[in-house]
Amino acid sequence: MCGIVAYVGARPALPLLVEGLRRLEYRGYDSAGLAIAEGGTLAVHKRKGKVRELESTLPAQVPGSVGVAHTRWATHGEPSDLNAHPHTDAAGRIGVVHNGIIENAAELRRRLEGEGVVFRSQTDTEVLAHLIGRRPESSLVEAVCAALALVKGAYGLAVIDADRPGAIIAARNGGPVVIGVGDDEMFVASDAVALMGHARSVAHLDDGEVAEVRADGFTVMTLEGAETFKALQALEGDAGGLDKGDFSHFMRKEIAEQPEAVRRTLLGRLDHRFQTAHLGGIELAAREMLDIRRVKILGCGSAFYAGVVGAHLIEQLARIPAQAEPAAEFRYRNPVVEQDTLYVAVSQSGETFDTLAAIQEVKRKGGRVLGVINAIGSTIARECGRGVYLHAGPEVAVVSTKTFTSTVVAFCLLALQLGRVRDLSSAHGQRLLAGLSLLPDQIQSIVDREAELAPIAARLAASEHAYFLGRTVSHAIAMEGALKLKEISYLHAEAYAASELKHGPLALITPHTPVLIVAPDDDLLAKNRSTIAEVRTRQGPVLAVTQDGVDLEDVEASFAVPRCEPELAPLLLNIPLQLLAYQVASALGRDIDQPRNLAKSVTVE
Ligand code: GLU
Repeated sequence: MCGIVAYVGARPALPLLVEGLRRLEYRGYDSAGLAIAEGGTLAVHKRKGKVRELESTLPAQVPGSVGVAHTRWATHGEPSDLNAHPHTDAAGRIGVVHNGIIENAAELRRRLEGEGVVFRSQTDTEVLAHLIGRRPESSLVEAVCAALALVKGAYGLAVIDADRPGAIIAARNGGPVVIGVGDDEMFVASDAVALMGHARSVAHLDDGEVAEVRADGFTVMTLEGAETFKALQALEGDAGGLDKGDFSHFMRKEIAEQPEAVRRTLLGRLDHRFQTAHLGGIELAAREMLDIRRVKILGCGSAFYAGVVGAHLIEQLARIPAQAEPAAEFRYRNPVVEQDTLYVAVSQSGETFDTLAAIQEVKRKGGRVLGVINAIGSTIARECGRGVYLHAGPEVAVVSTKTFTSTVVAFCLLALQLGRVRDLSSAHGQRLLAGLSLLPDQIQSIVDREAELAPIAARLAASEHAYFLGRTVSHAIAMEGALKLKEISYLHAEAYAASELKHGPLALITPHTPVLIVAPDDDLLAKNRSTIAEVRTRQGPVLAVTQDGVDLEDVEASFAVPRCEPELAPLLLNIPLQLLAYQVASALGRDIDQPRNLAKSVTVE
């Protein structure tokens, strides 16, 4: 969750480290710091709070061309200047930045204190700095390996030594680490996004690997010392996606980027000749697709809700029983893993710990998993080995918008491909292809009408509680809409299946509890009208997101999205809910891109 960035080369390290930290800011963090080695000493600057607060305390220049930097998301010890990383050994020579948790830190700390070591912070990480510092006679990589041999837990690490400033040592066990290759300079980071525009290509460390990264190259080995070969991957994309441009927030920019993101998710994947989709990365022959008896989709948060929509699409279009489940729930209930089930793991970052652990559980029991991932080369993408990349571009805001949409589009393609090897007709396939091609312009038209949402936003912003209702797949959209509102406005929003309202929550409806209903023009519209009447009878204000041509009586305010192929309606109905959450959070003055307590890529359990 935290960020690591490190540099070794010929340029001054300071501006590169600060830029890298700014690029990682979106992940959510509570303190930041850096250490730069020069002339046998280590200059350490660290500070509780945002990167800009660290910057305000930095000297204009810090000499040195090798350094490590970190944004911390505290697990052990409150956010404070002292607990911020980097941590150093007693002599102040070794600088360590760490992402993750050292599980046996308390025991190691007692042991070191028994040997006379004085700790300066409450963190688990400081243990590592002292363990590494105990072996000045070994090479730095040997000292790191010896320390890690004593450690239990999860980590992504970068270490430098003022006495041996030629290299950064990086190591990984459970926390992402990439090595970035530039021209006569090298980088280490927890996310390739930090290196865009600097590194030409990247290599991803696997668990149990340690790297010695020098300006002129790197070597990777296992903790036991066996050298491993790393393939380099070109670093796609430019740093432009990391800039807000004219937008006030990354979230708003990413909402606006959805037409383009959808175009990229669709690119090269629509097969008009056979009226199907073609997802090359899933590597399933037609016969294998026919053998699938069930689909199980795993993800967390918005990825899970996108999976709920995906399951609905697969069931409707391919008539294969499909279901989504939160990844960590699945993992811990000793699931039955079946040979003829296709497991699909969804993660924007490809680093979500709970999802990764669920995949490993499926694989351990002999199941096969596809990934639906945005970040190329990420841990989950590599763990699955096959799947669908969203190509939505970097998503910086903590809450997902364009990757939710692109994930649902990817599921439409998967459902279409699975459906067309089964009973989905070519005419139906053709209709869906045409419908998918229209999506970017339709999404654009919704974003262009943002101002029309103001009355709904004003009503939500003035209330402490709201219900979001929908039926079947629209219930999933209601869940995603309520989550978005909770995440960035901190208002209490609860999603319910509209059919369930009268079985309990109706008791809470008052003139102060607005109910937002997601009511497309489908077979259930009449049922939704009854729900609206039930709420109105209890004086509950009703707000609606519906489709063009639907006339809803007795609603206080409504917004209609364009008509489309019925299966694609959830994609369009979700866009106004994103904009609503954004407007409400803006009205309430919230920190929209970095909401409290949340982080972008949840790499801890
Ligand atoms: N466990 C470490 C700490 O609390 C690292 C946390 C992180 O991943 O930022 O300092």
